[in-house]
Amino acid sequence: MVAASRDSNADDEHDPEGATIAFERAQLASVLRLATDDLAEVDAALGRVSAGRYGRCERCEQPISPARLDARPTARLCMTCASA
Ligand SMILES: [Zn+2]
Repeated sequence: MVAASRDSNADDEHDPEGATIAFERAQLASVLRLATDDLAEVDAALGRVSAGRYGRCERCEQPISPARLDARPTARLCMTCASA
């Protein structure tokens, strides 16, 4: 979408129907940023698996509950530390 609209000088600001290109670009950038953040969290979790530290809280070193890891496999902190 960004590539398709890069060289366009279309004036969509006055189109009464639908969202503007600027809005859609901002929305797409936001989704891309969230996906990139999620990927970084997954990479960090894989690094902890390789290091033998997966499932252990980074703050208190105690095991993270299996229920928390089921709900959030990339969790770095146990519930106690995450809530503090
Ligand atoms: Zn902890």
